[in-house]
Amino acid sequence: MSDVQAYPGPGEPPCVVVGGGLAGSLMAIYMARRGHPVEVYEARPDMRRLQVDRGRSINLALSTRGLHALAAVGLEDEVRQMCIPMHGRMIHPMEGEPHLQPYGRAGQYINSISRQGLNELLMNTAEARDQVRFHFDIPCVDVDLDEGVAHFDDREKGERVVREASILIGADGAYSAVRQRLQRSGRYNYEQAYLSHGYKELSIPAGPQGKYLIEKNALHIWPRHDFMLIALPNLDATFTVTLFMAFEGATSFEALKTPADVEAFFKREFPDAYALMPTLTDDFFANPTGSLVTIRCAPYHHGERVMILGDAAHAVVPFYGQGMNAAFEDCFVLNELLEREDGDVGRAIAAFSRERKDDADAIGHLALYNYFEMRSAVASPYFVFRKKIERV
Ligand code: FAD
Repeated sequence: MSDVQAYPGPGEPPCVVVGGGLAGSLMAIYMARRGHPVEVYEARPDMRRLQVDRGRSINLALSTRGLHALAAVGLEDEVRQMCIPMHGRMIHPMEGEPHLQPYGRAGQYINSISRQGLNELLMNTAEARDQVRFHFDIPCVDVDLDEGVAHFDDREKGERVVREASILIGADGAYSAVRQRLQRSGRYNYEQAYLSHGYKELSIPAGPQGKYLIEKNALHIWPRHDFMLIALPNLDATFTVTLFMAFEGATSFEALKTPADVEAFFKREFPDAYALMPTLTDDFFANPTGSLVTIRCAPYHHGERVMILGDAAHAVVPFYGQGMNAAFEDCFVLNELLEREDGDVGRAIAAFSRERKDDADAIGHLALYNYFEMRSAVASPYFVFRKKIERV
């Protein structure tokens, strides 16, 4: 094992961010703006050079919560150009015409945005600052919590990299190596729960002359009570379609074994979508079936230097469209706390643990409930009636 490497530049050790995903890249920008040297270590290759994210959600719903955190680092205009506003849920019932259930009041909307496009913008913005460096294909394998030292595996060189940090931020997602180290510390609270349902990504192509084949400015839902299909628009006029369904049972991923099974299921359950999905069976068998996990833990920090945020601290199921938004808000909140505590990292990360936990847990609960609302309640006549009343 090599010796601990001090930061090569002058002064303090760097801020070390584990994970160059959405939260890690945004946090790198925040920390660089505070004047810290920042080293970001990402387990996967550089997505700007290599397609690495097959099977993860291709687009995401970005809401005011996330936009606010992006606006605070000057990215609102650039991000808005990448967004497609979705003014409501377009419900595709089994019988009858699709109908729009507006989100909130007139003028209120959420946005569809490309995960890769947004992550690349964040990386490019961070890297444009001299004091930020990204290292790819170098996963974190261990952390010395008391010393604030992270251990990485440089696969290309076959070397162990050991890096001391002034603040070590684990933004390494739901299966976080930093959190796994926290879990082995004393009196650490941790729970994880998988849904019995999973998801698979499919697609609707662009129409002739690059036209959108279904309403562009809506989040489409085909609610079928025990399962559902959704579709979010992309800038190239395609839609990313996601099927959420049980892994096992009579109506399940397990039951769809052959292309004929898949065709029959889609023809029966989602006939209007099926008519627009020429690559359905190829997509279905090429793309993985993803699992959906909720993670709750406490605290989000250890000692004076180590902390986690984003999915590493509070992974939620995607039905409230708030996982990324909450992760971005974490970055905003941590920056505010560093400001409030006059740059004292120990006090700021302890405050982050205390002040963020209830909000993160609340998002997790709302997300679990919203699966029922999206796949079932939105299709009930009472729900449609109640929504109309609410808008009067
Ligand atoms: P991640 O995006 O998971 O990034 C973690 C990064 O850390 C990755 O780049 C990973 O490679 C890296 N990494 C992992 N381990 C290591 C290691 N040991 N060392 C170094 N690097 C490591 N959220 C929304 O707000 N709106 C939505 O519409 C939405 N839709 C979703 C749909 C689906 C199907 C799913 C699964 C999720 C959805 N989410 C949505 C949630 C959202 O994807 C996450 O909340 C968000 O990606 C969290 O960002 P993060 O940076 O914390 O984690």
